[in-house]
Amino acid sequence: MTYRNYYYLSLLLFILTILMGCSNSKHLSCKNLPNEDVLKNETYAIRNVNIITMTTDNKVIKNATLVIKENKIFSINGTIPEDAKIIDAKNKWLIPGLVDMHVHNLADINFASDYPTKGATLFSDTQDFMLLYIANGVTTVLELSARVEHFGQRNEIIKQKVIGPRIALAFLIDGGDGSGNIANTPEDGRQSVRIAKAQGYEFIKVYSGLNIETYKAIVDEALKNHMKVVGHIPNAFKGRLEQAFVPNFDMIAHAEELSKQSKDLRNEDAQRFAKLAKENGTWLTPTLTTMQRIAEQTHSLDGIRNLPSLKYVHPLMQSKWLYSNHYNNETDPKRIARIDSMVDFHFRLVKAFKDAEVPIVAGTDSGVSGVVWGWALHDELELLVKAGLTNQEALASATRLPALWLGIEDKTGTIEVGKYADLILLDANPLDDISNTRMISGVFVNGQWIDKKVLDKMLLTLEKKNSCNLGKDQYNWKKRKAY
Ligand SMILES: [Zn+2]
Repeated sequence: MTYRNYYYLSLLLFILTILMGCSNSKHLSCKNLPNEDVLKNETYAIRNVNIITMTTDNKVIKNATLVIKENKIFSINGTIPEDAKIIDAKNKWLIPGLVDMHVHNLADINFASDYPTKGATLFSDTQDFMLLYIANGVTTVLELSARVEHFGQRNEIIKQKVIGPRIALAFLIDGGDGSGNIANTPEDGRQSVRIAKAQGYEFIKVYSGLNIETYKAIVDEALKNHMKVVGHIPNAFKGRLEQAFVPNFDMIAHAEELSKQSKDLRNEDAQRFAKLAKENGTWLTPTLTTMQRIAEQTHSLDGIRNLPSLKYVHPLMQSKWLYSNHYNNETDPKRIARIDSMVDFHFRLVKAFKDAEVPIVAGTDSGVSGVVWGWALHDELELLVKAGLTNQEALASATRLPALWLGIEDKTGTIEVGKYADLILLDANPLDDISNTRMISGVFVNGQWIDKKVLDKMLLTLEKKNSCNLGKDQYNWKKRKAY
């Protein structure tokens, strides 16, 4: 069936549903369903399941029964309600839905010249995009370069037109003479923060081009507006890193921000950076997977070409990553050697931060070429373990800890009664081997159960749609301004 036929069939079904007066409300909801196989707001009982709660006491509850009612965890080892749908989870493991603390989501965008009333020139299907997250059990993300379109995406999810993760939005402020949200004086910096607050952003992201005074004013104004600050360490702090650690600089967005500050990438530097972060209460999102992918691309694009998840990536991004890849185009032996040594240093840096007891959270920088939304978080967990985190600590870095940083620890991040049912059912125990987080049997996204069969079906549909669009002009990065 073509996509258009499918659309008309969906429309017909929708009209029929309305004509039937929604008489059978249990099976035919008046709401638009993103997928006919996905049931909403049902009561579920997961039986015989091993629950990795991810609470601070590292509690694991074996052979338990967990009941989900109205999108929340209703009971653990309580009675099973009569109307509950039973999911038998013998020998399976339940973990909280995962959080990616550093993403760049694809959203509608305008590549052509503006005129009043003209909106986006390239539309992306929000469900197609969000599928990448939910197929991988990612149920919360922090968007670190948020713009107005991301509010629209988030609303689609909240209105249940799309199944997707919870999304927190950070407003990026840079300095210099580029485009975007630019501030080059403390007054402009403070005003940018107030505008972000007024527009509804929850966090501030500081960026590389800010000067020292403006950076400090932004972080201070954010504190006054109860907004946490995450981001790059501006280049202006080169040689005086300690000055960047001011109150309310709450999280470093990449390990790279620190390796840029080290001349010879020695362990002593890693320990010094960890001490600064610890004393200031600044957390770290290492984004190890990004640097590893970048390092790969400086050598060759074969890694991207052979990614099993590439076929699910929007065709425009596939085009950009493969045919306009600046990491690959602008490579030289010196650069390759430097990046390779940074990859090595970042592992040692993570270990130093762990030893200094600085909280480490999992983030991927998904959207950077070769870093595929959803899949990349599992890559990151494996790299964090390789760097020295235990499997339990790696899981905490993508569940309890990010929920705490985001201020939603009463809603998600652990498996406890009263929290939202953001859960992943796994075929094997991730405490034995962290790569078992990939063994997904099904996910609960805000209480909606989507089992593996349904996820696979949705992925297959997306793969077909992407392959139909590959190579078309509008999905050609080099021609993106031409329509
Ligand atoms: Zn980023």
